[in-house]
Amino acid sequence: MAVEPEGSAVSRPDVAQAMQSHGSPTSSWCLRAAERPVIGRLAPSPTGRLHIGNAYAALAAWLSARSRGGRVILRIEDIDGPRTVPGADGLIMDDYRWLGLDWDGDPVWQSRRLPLYERAMDDLASRGLIYPCFCSRADLRAASAPHDEDGFLIYPGTCRRLSDAERRSRIKRGDRHSWRLAMPVHACVEVRDRIYGLHGYDLARDCGDVVLRRSDGLFAYQLAVTVDDAAQGVTDIVRGRDLLRSSAIQVWLRHVLFPQAPEPSFAHVPILTDARGTRLAKRDKAIDLGQLREGGVRPENVVGYCAWLLGLLDGPRPMKPADLVGMYDDALVRRDVHDRVADMSVLFRM
Ligand SMILES: [Zn+2]
Repeated sequence: MAVEPEGSAVSRPDVAQAMQSHGSPTSSWCLRAAERPVIGRLAPSPTGRLHIGNAYAALAAWLSARSRGGRVILRIEDIDGPRTVPGADGLIMDDYRWLGLDWDGDPVWQSRRLPLYERAMDDLASRGLIYPCFCSRADLRAASAPHDEDGFLIYPGTCRRLSDAERRSRIKRGDRHSWRLAMPVHACVEVRDRIYGLHGYDLARDCGDVVLRRSDGLFAYQLAVTVDDAAQGVTDIVRGRDLLRSSAIQVWLRHVLFPQAPEPSFAHVPILTDARGTRLAKRDKAIDLGQLREGGVRPENVVGYCAWLLGLLDGPRPMKPADLVGMYDDALVRRDVHDRVADMSVLFRM
């Protein structure tokens, strides 16, 4: 049986040529993948307390790394200042400990790494790979059609067509602007996902020119995550399937900014929904770990329920993460790639 290499490939004539001079990208990647140590990550956004969906995704990421003897790093993704809730980072770490999800080394806060993101933006600017976008929110809503699946807005490229002189004069007169990544035309990125298989994305058509720095000056998720994953040597990215398209963007950005960094291996897992099929949201207090803990739910119940939702157990039963390490297998998650309906009442009946 042919084994599909993990990771992702970027196909573009000039890129392919550049890679050929260093040998076949796929074969060299496989060698590296077999030899390199696994580094996984927990990367919560402190916009509130963890909920059951966050715990489920964190358990998957933790087990994926630990089951191969890997390290797990903790990165607090708090660059979105206005959405960050003071103290939520502490509660999230406490919830991880309560669940039995540990990490190696000191946690890292993205808000303390701004010079790294600044440097990446400077690098992109010096190579003409970003451009200012003066569109307002209303302009964008009127001009873009959201992608049905994940609500992703494809930017129509309005400001990409402005002349250099026009850009300079508008910046000079103080027009509000974000900075967008100029995606290459006719370039495809393949995300080889361990759960959902091979997904090809035409960068211009399927992702568009994404914002890397917002008009309020904040760095965007796609930039910070790409810089950090490369800088921290992350090899194992496990998260919800709603981020598959983002992975294509991050593979490309990584390729542009850090061509020497090895590609990480991706596993996107099915997401948890409510009974109506809507993705779980932090505003629903019933699924909040703080609420569940106060209600007397034990951590083993949360872990065992999430493990069952992942497909690792034949029924929900109390478990500790450490006891699941030997049982984790991508193939078990892959047996059913449909989203899972979360039923909180199970946690009280286990
Ligand atoms: Zn624009």
